[in-house]
Amino acid sequence: MPVEAEHRVIWAAINGPIPKGMHIHHKDGDHWNNELSNLQLVDPATHKRLHGKYELRDDGWYKQCRKCDGFFPLDNFYAKRVGRQVTQGNCCKPCHNKMTAEYNRIHKERRNEIRRIRAAMNRESELKTKLVTDCRKLGAYARRHEDRRAVGLLDMAIKFPGHPHLLAEGKLVEHQTFAPTLRQWEEGQRYIAAGGLCCLIGWDPKTKVMYVHEWAKTALKKDSFPPGGSYKPHAETLREWLIWRMTK
Ligand SMILES: [Zn+2]
Ligand SMILES: [Zn+2]
Repeated sequence: MPVEAEHRVIWAAINGPIPKGMHIHHKDGDHWNNELSNLQLVDPATHKRLHGKYELRDDGWYKQCRKCDGFFPLDNFYAKRVGRQVTQGNCCKPCHNKMTAEYNRIHKERRNEIRRIRAAMNRESELKTKLVTDCRKLGAYARRHEDRRAVGLLDMAIKFPGHPHLLAEGKLVEHQTFAPTLRQWEEGQRYIAAGGLCCLIGWDPKTKVMYVHEWAKTALKKDSFPPGGSYKPHAETLREWLIWRMTK
C-alpha cells in the first residue's frame, strides 16, 4: 500500500474516505499548507485545470493561451489527446494556426533547399561519370573514386597517353565561378606539392558548357580554358587543355 499523502489523510479524517480517483487540491498552491480550509476535493480534469493556466468564470472555464497570453473559453482551443484524456492545446486556435503555417513554411523551404542541393549533386556526378567514360574512349586511363569515405576529396583520376597523370574535380558553375570545397582544396595542394597535376572543371548546369581551370581556390569562368567555354565533347576539351598547358 502506498503511503497516503498527508493532505489526503487530513481531508479524509474530517470528510470521510476520498472517492476513488478524486484528488485533493491545495487552493493556495502551497503544497506544505495542509490546513483543512486550504484543501479541496476535485476530479482529475478540474485539478489539471486548476494547475494549468485555467480560470473558472461565471460562464465556464477559460484557459490562457501560451502564445498570446489571452484568456479564452475552452472551445477556442483545439482538442488535444493526452493518453486517454482529451484536453486543450497550449495555444488558442488563431495562434495555433499561425504557428502551424509558419512551421510548414520553414519546412517546405528546407525541403526544397535539400532537393535543390541533391539535384545539383546528381547532375555534377552524372557529368563526372560521363567525362571519365569519354576519356576512356579516347584511350585514357580514367576512373572515379567512388569511395564513400573519400567524399569531399578529388574524385577523377585521368591519364591520357603522353600527358601527366591528372587529378580533377568537376563542379557546377554558380554565377560566374566554380570552386573546390576546403577539403578538396587541401587535397589538391598536397597532390601538387608532391609533383602532381590538378585541375578544376566547371560545367554550366544548363548548357553543360565545360570550362577547365588550373587548380585554384576559386575559378572564374572568364579565366578558364577555352575562353567562353567549350560545347565540344568534354574529354576532347580536357585533352586540349593538357596540350595548351604544355605549350603555355
Ligand atoms: Zn492541486
Ligand atoms: Zn493565442
